[in-house]
Amino acid sequence: MSRREYFFVEPDQVIWQSGVATELYIRGEEHHHLTRVLRHQPGDRIFAVDGRGMFYAGTIETITKAFSRVRIEKVEPRHGEPRFQLTLAVGLPRLSRFEWLLEKVVEIGVVGVVPIISRYTVVKPETKKMSRWRNIARAAMKQCGRSVLPEIQPPMPLEALWRQVEQFDVRIIAHAPLPPQARPFGAGEQSAPQGTSGLLLVGPEGGFAPEEVQKAIDGGFQFLSLGGRRLRTETAGVVASALILHVLDEIQ
Ligand code: SAM
Repeated sequence: MSRREYFFVEPDQVIWQSGVATELYIRGEEHHHLTRVLRHQPGDRIFAVDGRGMFYAGTIETITKAFSRVRIEKVEPRHGEPRFQLTLAVGLPRLSRFEWLLEKVVEIGVVGVVPIISRYTVVKPETKKMSRWRNIARAAMKQCGRSVLPEIQPPMPLEALWRQVEQFDVRIIAHAPLPPQARPFGAGEQSAPQGTSGLLLVGPEGGFAPEEVQKAIDGGFQFLSLGGRRLRTETAGVVASALILHVLDEIQ
């Protein structure tokens, strides 16, 4: 796969005329990176995404101190985006591990990440990190060539998440061993799970409390085993996200 560098543009940095995107302006840090780090020149072809699903390819026409002006040659909606909208809700691990996980799952293709505070979560929730987390997600989005910026939510109590699970077509919890009354992931399906949106729940280092496991059973969650080895929370988040998107044909 060729190395493509993607620049970030806000939608208002793109000029549309009669429904056609004609030019865009790269500013700020992105402009600095384009001119000073990558040393692009007028005439070079570059790629940009707006974080809301638009991808642009074009040629640099002008470089000034404050901006680069690019003539747009190609527009592609939902470039690099999976069809299946998988949101990962994960028991908050240590912050450095959470940030590692965040970067990896954005690359893998999740559309949202919700850090969860559950009964056995020991890490103190940090709401001050939100802008840092969004920057990590944005860098990962650009790095892997996605066009939608995944939504990173502030830490949320698991109790609050239970009230939202109905909005997802498919609900999956990574948990082993499988409780006797639980429905295994994929059981009873003709092929891959049906629907266009899914919630994947992964526990904190301390795992899920028995009443949380029961809530998942009552809430119609499918139970996903990741094998006979106990994985760290962030490893489980990465492996389970990739596995689910693979089963759904999003990773082939
Ligand atoms: N002591 C905890 C337990 O027994 O559940 C271990 C928790 S593990 C470190 C953190 C989370 O990763 C688990 O709650 C689960 O969501 C997921 N996980 C880790 N290994 C797994 C496996 N083999 N199968 C399914 N989920 C797993």
